[in-house]
Amino acid sequence: MTKPPQVNTIFKLGGRQNPPPAEPSQSVLVVVETPRYSAVAAPLRYACERALPPGTLVRVPLGKREVLGVVWADSDPPAVDDKAITLRPLVQVFGALPPLPPSWRALVSFAAGYYQRAVGELALSVLPPELRRLDAAALTRRVDRLRKAWQAVSTEPPTAAVAVDAPALSADQQRALQVLEALRAQPQPPPLLLWGVTGSGKTEVYLRATAATLESGRQALVLVPEINLTPQLEARFAARFPGRRIAAVHSALTPAQRLRGWLAVLMGQVDIVLGTRLAVFSPLPRLGLVVVDEEHDPSYKQQEGARYSARDLAVWRGRAEGVPVLLGSATPSLESWQRAAHDNAVPAAAASVGSRAPRYRRVDMAERIAGAALPRVRLVDMTALPRPAAARTPPVLAPAVLDALRQCLARGEQSLVFLNRRGYAPVLHCADCGWKSGCPHCSAWRVFHKRERSLRCHHCGFGEPVPRACPDCGNLDIAPIGRGTEKLEEQLVELLPQARIARLDADTARGKGQLESRLAEVHAGEVDILVGTQMVTKGHDFRRITLVVAVNPDGVLFTSDFRAGERLFALLMQAAGRAGRDAANASESQMWVQTWHPRHPLYQALQRHDFAAFAAATLAERAAAGLPPHSHLALLRAEARDAAVASAFLHAATDGALAQSDVAGVTLYPPVPTPINKVAGIERMQMLLESRSRTQLQRLLAAWVPTLHALHRQHKGLARWAVDVDPLAI
Ligand code: ADP
Ligand code: ZN
Ligand code: ZN
Repeated sequence: MTKPPQVNTIFKLGGRQNPPPAEPSQSVLVVVETPRYSAVAAPLRYACERALPPGTLVRVPLGKREVLGVVWADSDPPAVDDKAITLRPLVQVFGALPPLPPSWRALVSFAAGYYQRAVGELALSVLPPELRRLDAAALTRRVDRLRKAWQAVSTEPPTAAVAVDAPALSADQQRALQVLEALRAQPQPPPLLLWGVTGSGKTEVYLRATAATLESGRQALVLVPEINLTPQLEARFAARFPGRRIAAVHSALTPAQRLRGWLAVLMGQVDIVLGTRLAVFSPLPRLGLVVVDEEHDPSYKQQEGARYSARDLAVWRGRAEGVPVLLGSATPSLESWQRAAHDNAVPAAAASVGSRAPRYRRVDMAERIAGAALPRVRLVDMTALPRPAAARTPPVLAPAVLDALRQCLARGEQSLVFLNRRGYAPVLHCADCGWKSGCPHCSAWRVFHKRERSLRCHHCGFGEPVPRACPDCGNLDIAPIGRGTEKLEEQLVELLPQARIARLDADTARGKGQLESRLAEVHAGEVDILVGTQMVTKGHDFRRITLVVAVNPDGVLFTSDFRAGERLFALLMQAAGRAGRDAANASESQMWVQTWHPRHPLYQALQRHDFAAFAAATLAERAAAGLPPHSHLALLRAEARDAAVASAFLHAATDGALAQSDVAGVTLYPPVPTPINKVAGIERMQMLLESRSRTQLQRLLAAWVPTLHALHRQHKGLARWAVDVDPLAI
């Protein structure tokens, strides 16, 4: 997707006094972060005195400002018409840094085209923000410091640290690594889907694959969904590869830390990058392996700005650089599953990100390490519970579940109880007049937080002290409806007074280090029962948990989100995976699921740990409904204080799309309010585009999205609009 270069005269008005250009003989095209919604998407041309390699960081004038930019190309001379125009010169060249590698520019260009953003916006959004604040001299000092430190380290005698012993590989692990090494030898290795049940030792496969990569002088990129929850993984890599340099890339870093790590990566000093979705853009010059752990995890999809999928970009990057990509999961995304399942059946077809589809290879690891059993899944039919006539709500835990918790406690083992809703209760209610604790700014309830005595909106953050009486009728008896983790914890303390209970959710893990210290308590055996949201189910290698309880997972089954079932199945499998990870006590391990729909096929498949059956059934449903991965989607979202404005914009956009010659093969659906249609006083509308062909959808978007900038200006009061390609939910 190359757009014609644009001459930067449109920003000339009012430009500040620059030194007159000293007959610059050359010009370069530079991408910068242009103002939001400006129609300027193409690189801008600037004058310079000598040729600069693409990828060089520079500072350039833009209107009255000076901004960071990246040299994108130096090749084509300006068109004849442009000759008369005096180009503004570059302000600074960051010559101390190596240019960003061509592979990085290729990835950014592709992502910008695919997700319908300007190249400059995307490029600048994935660079460390600190770069914008520094001038060339300050950056040179930092680079020199890093280089000196590096020389000091690399001339030291070999480090005394010794790698922890690697375990002998299981047969499954060996086979996975053999397949991977065979793929590595190919010029265009297809991605390898590692389908391994929880506790099958996927991490060991990542570690060995990384070791082989480092031995061949290359670098490894390891992506994880949430690095905050996986300090263990970082520790394991550090222990396995002493003396190797590991850069962690995630949002919890300070700006200075992030810059330092990024510079080290660009300077080729780093062997392993371990990070969250943003890390997919790491400018590794010698990439040899990409790992995407828990590849199905929704957090790989960015939810603002350029809404990219780091998993899909990792696959693209692997293909572009000819390196293997290892996608690991116990419950792969249906997209990956379908591609891998069709591996032998269908010849390469244009069905994935990019033009030519990689068909995936798949390796299965069906056994847990050391033959440990998977937990027995038991479904508790909540409809069959005897319910005292007076009770308004059913008991929090079925008697059988309570028994199981008591027995686990008596054996000195740990249990994990989860409920996907934080706070004390999702809503407060007045039985006299029907008042409910709605948020005045959102179409949502405000959640009752008992300990902090507040009503807080989880969408806009608006909070207030809990009223003493009903704000509408003055009734003193306002009561919580439903249950969140805070109430669940309170009830467990009442029911099991002898147990040591800890809670883990976004509220208790807010402070710095709170999450780590709570997890450490669990690992140290100081907690008997860990209560929490799905946060407790993710990836932790808890050794002493033998019982997992899902309190009320049904809610998700009946939402409008077509991926809800897929996500719930993955979540429950993951949760079950926390139990019985130590072979010694695995045979007794159990997961109890309290449900009002025990016959639901999802729970039936879960009970058999049968992901393949669940995937086959769900793929068939998606095929019948024409939903991904059998079709490709994009959303156009619009936000305004007045829903009518957002709606008018979307209707006009629809007309604009229908007028495009590329609309063939793409279905446009009418604008509708989003599931939560008002947040912080702004109304949200969206329209869906759907196509059997990714290429046709892409062609329409590429022709259509640039016209929306002009349309935005015609709709006064439109706050925002954005395109989401391959949205997670619709
Ligand atoms: P997964 O990521 O597949 O759920 P892990 O990689 O966390 O599983 O492995 C589960 C446990 O098994 C870990 O404690 C790990 O150290 C251990 N393990 C992995 N491979 C081996 C092996 N070959 N021999 C012994 N223990 C192993
Ligand atoms: Zn009332
Ligand atoms: Zn709100």
